[in-house]
Amino acid sequence: MNLNHKGDKEYKEMLYEGKAKRIFKTPVAQEFFLEFKDSLTAFNALKKGSFENKGIVNRDIAALLFEYLEKFAIPSHYLRKENQNGMLVKKVTIIPFEVVVRNVLAGSTAKKLGIEEGTPLSEPLVEFYFKKDELGDPFVSEEQMRIIHQIPVRDIDIMKELALKINKKLTELFAEIKIKLVDFKVEFGKDSDSVILLADEITPDCCRLWDMETNEKLDKDRFRRDLGSVKESYESVLARLTQNRRGK
Ligand code: C5P
Repeated sequence: MNLNHKGDKEYKEMLYEGKAKRIFKTPVAQEFFLEFKDSLTAFNALKKGSFENKGIVNRDIAALLFEYLEKFAIPSHYLRKENQNGMLVKKVTIIPFEVVVRNVLAGSTAKKLGIEEGTPLSEPLVEFYFKKDELGDPFVSEEQMRIIHQIPVRDIDIMKELALKINKKLTELFAEIKIKLVDFKVEFGKDSDSVILLADEITPDCCRLWDMETNEKLDKDRFRRDLGSVKESYESVLARLTQNRRGK
């Protein structure tokens, strides 16, 4: 392992490259290096962009949120920060379903049902989407997961329960910094003992975050919808989270 010009460790053996992240092997068998890239994509990568230091900002946000959730016994793959834009994570096998939690109707479900974006929900709504780029990550019912994909009910229940707990704790945290957590997507994986852990990332790439006072969007919808100030919005989420933590 070499050090590059920034003093960062260099991981050479890449296992996977996604739209916004890369995963590398490390000398430790059960640990991976997860690197956050500066790129930004939307609509299943039909729209592409990037901004300088996005990887650093998203890594910092994700690390802060994983560390926060750990305090409430929400287990994740996160181990520690590594380099400027990465983290060491536990090796997990990703369960190929995205779990979306909605507090306010927005995005795809609002559109599909013809309901105005911003309509509050009477309770948090958990939805599952099958992770398959070629199919555009379609919505799946729990029955479809159980009967077609053979996902045990117990796993579905654990993912739902964890997603709702994550929603509760993140909603509280974001409320402290006057941000409304409208919705978010998480992914789960199984470690070598088959324990289900929160995996992937939680960043403005996969959450809808609205300023409580102005309703201004502070997340990837700024990029999806060409609203401008994408970098500034992501940086403001990190700055507010960091300031809030310092105040404790
Ligand atoms: O598009 P939709 O309204 O279903 O998205 C719900 C939430 O999940 C949003 O916060 C969005 O950013 C996130 N999401 C994601 N990756 C996807 C689909 C949705 O992070 N592939």
